[in-house]
Amino acid sequence: MIRVRFAPSPTGYIHLGNVRTALFNYLYAKRGGGKFILRVEDTDRERSKPEYRQALMEDLLWMGLRWDEGPEVGGEFGPYVQSERLAIYEEHIARLIREGKAYECYVTEQETEEMKYLAKIEKRPPRFDNRGRSFSRAEIDKRKAAGIKPTVRFKIESPLLTLHDMIRGEVTFNLDDMVGDFVIRRADGMPTFHLVVCVDDALMKITHVIRGEDHLSNTPKHMLLLGAMGYEPPAYGHLSLINGPGGEPLSKRMESISIRAFRKAGFLPEALCNYIALLGWSPGDDREILTWPELQALFDLSRVSRSSSNYDPEKFSWLNGQHLRLLSEGDFVRRAVTFLKPLGLPYPDEEVAAILPVFKDNVEHFDQLPERLKVLADEFEYEKPELWIRTPAAKGLLEKASALLDEFAAERMPSYEKFLEKLKPLAAVKGKDLFMPLRVSWTGREHGPELKRIFPVLGAARLKKRTLRALALHAL
Ligand code: GLU
Repeated sequence: MIRVRFAPSPTGYIHLGNVRTALFNYLYAKRGGGKFILRVEDTDRERSKPEYRQALMEDLLWMGLRWDEGPEVGGEFGPYVQSERLAIYEEHIARLIREGKAYECYVTEQETEEMKYLAKIEKRPPRFDNRGRSFSRAEIDKRKAAGIKPTVRFKIESPLLTLHDMIRGEVTFNLDDMVGDFVIRRADGMPTFHLVVCVDDALMKITHVIRGEDHLSNTPKHMLLLGAMGYEPPAYGHLSLINGPGGEPLSKRMESISIRAFRKAGFLPEALCNYIALLGWSPGDDREILTWPELQALFDLSRVSRSSSNYDPEKFSWLNGQHLRLLSEGDFVRRAVTFLKPLGLPYPDEEVAAILPVFKDNVEHFDQLPERLKVLADEFEYEKPELWIRTPAAKGLLEKASALLDEFAAERMPSYEKFLEKLKPLAAVKGKDLFMPLRVSWTGREHGPELKRIFPVLGAARLKKRTLRALALHAL
C-alpha cells in the first residue's frame, strides 16, 4: 500500500512551492488507493511556531488536502509532530553509537567553520575531514574538561551511491566529494533533520518520498542512514523548483505567494490546485482548466517534468476566473458571500445576493467584488459630470427618464429593454449621448456592469432617486 507524507516545517506560512509538494503527494496517494500522511517537522525550536502549525493545517484543509494520518486525526504510527518524538530519535542515535556506526565528535563548531573556510580558499569541496573519529582518549578528556559538548556524527563508509529517482531517473553521488561524516545530533542534544526524517519515514512506513529538488543532495545521506539503521529506504522523487515571476526561487519570505495571501484575495481552492498542478506536471494534452475530479483522475508522476517551472501571477488570476465561470450561479453567490461576510460591507444581504451574478463572468478573484458592489450605494461621486450630466441635452433626457421610471415602479424585476423601447422615441438624443448620461447618473461611472443587468436588480424606484440626484446638479 502506498504511504506518502507531506512534512512541512512550521517556520512560516506555507506557500505555492510547499503545497505543490503536498498536492503531488496527495494525488499520488489517492490515485494509488494509498494514504496521505501529515508530519510536522518542528525540531528547529527557534524558528518553529505553534501558530504556523495551526495555519498550515487550516491552509491544507482549505485546499481540500485532508490527511489520513497526522496531527488532530492521529493514526497508528503517531505522534506525528516531531517535537513529541524525541525519545524515539534518541534511542536510534544511541543504537548507532553502540554499533559503531556513529560517534560522539568533539570537534568544535569553530574548527568546522575554519575547515570549511580553508577548503574554500584552496578551492576544495567544503568537506568535513572526519578528524573527530581519531581523537585520542586524552584529547577527548581535555576537550570535555574545557566544557566542549560533543555532536554525534554518522560515519560515511561507502561514499558511492546510485539513486533511482522516480522523476529524474538514475542519479549517482560520490559523497567523498560532498560531505564527510555528518551530524545527526547537535551539541545542544537535538537530533538533526537528517536523522529525524529517516527515523520517521521508516517508522511511519513511508513507501514514496516526493519532495523538492532542494533535498536531492540530502537523499544519499538518508539512504545510508536508513541502511545503517536496518531500514529499507523508500522510493524517492524530487520535484524541480518553481521560480517566482522575476526568475528567483520561491521562498517563505515572499508573502504574496503564501496560501494565506491567496485565500485573502479570494482565490478558489480548486483553481489553486489546478494552477499548482500545472507547475511541473501536464495532463499530456494542452488542457489547462482542470477540475478537482479531473486532476485526481489524471495525475501521474510519469508526466512530472524535470525542468523548473515559473509562477506567473497573471496566468493564475486568469485560471481562477475560468474556475469562477465554471460555477453555477448559486454556487458563485454562496461562495462569494462567504468571502464577503467578514468584510462587513454596508449593503443588505438580499441586495448583495441579487447583484452578485452580474459579476460572475467578469471578475478574476473575489477581492475585486467590493469595488464592483459599490453600485449598491446610492451616494457616489460622478465621473465627468460636465460632459454627461450638466448639459442641456442630458438634462432633457434625464427628465424624460425620470418620468418614465414611474411607469415601472410597480414591477419587481423591471426590464431595461422595455424601458429603452419607451425612452428612445421620447428622447432627443441617441447612442452614447443616451446611454452615458443614464450610466453616469445611475452608477457614477463611465464604465461598469451592463445597465440591462443592474436595472432589474436596483429597480425603478431606486433608479428614479438616482436620476433625480443627478438632475439636482443642474440646480447648483
Ligand atoms: N521539513 C522538510 C522541509 O520543509 C521536508 C523534508 C522532506 O520532505 O523530507 O523542507
